[in-house]
Amino acid sequence: MTPLLLATGNAGKVRELQPVLAAHGFAVVSQTELGISSIAETGSTFVENALLKARHAASESGMAALAEDSGLCVPYLQGAPGLYSARYAGPEASDTANNTKLLTMLAEARGEARTAYYVACMVFLESAADPSPLVAQGFWRGAIGEHPAGDEGFGYDPLFWPAGGLRSAAQRGLEEKNDCSHRAMALRRLLELLAERQTPQPLSLND
Ligand code: IMP
Repeated sequence: MTPLLLATGNAGKVRELQPVLAAHGFAVVSQTELGISSIAETGSTFVENALLKARHAASESGMAALAEDSGLCVPYLQGAPGLYSARYAGPEASDTANNTKLLTMLAEARGEARTAYYVACMVFLESAADPSPLVAQGFWRGAIGEHPAGDEGFGYDPLFWPAGGLRSAAQRGLEEKNDCSHRAMALRRLLELLAERQTPQPLSLND
């Protein structure tokens, strides 16, 4: 198994990523287990924040690091909560408080206006000084319901109805979410990039 530091303190993300990474030969350690603190997410895009988190964790641990920045975007709300998904209702806000605020902001929204998508951006760094980070993004499209339903998952899952589905994301088990979620898609792409980077391409004399 290859040791890999997961640069997050979010237990929900660890629960989703750990089994997939283990199946691909990575022994995952979370930054919380190593006592590494979170850093301020000062970027203005998901990719900038993921890079900040990965570099900080790699630098503190001396290990290869995988970071992820994600959020829920509602076009009717000009993309909010977006980058601020974890702290929509204020710093240290609970999932319940964030969900209540989202429902309030969408009180007048009907039909198409409740369309939303999750986005996840992942960054892998071999070390803090790695000059060529691997970057992968994934999306999960759906709509925001009028009431929370289900108690699986985390964050906005009780309010998020994946497109074409009759159940909220929080009414789906881990395996089902890991089949189609933004995080699962981003991780799948990242694993392909890692495999490409580790497999030297044969040189052709015609190149
Ligand atoms: P981050 O830790 O800054 O990336 O914040 C991510 C936030 O986006 C989480 O705290 C949730 O509020 C929201 N979020 C991201 N992915 C999910 C998901 O899969 N389900 C529910 N909420 C999510």
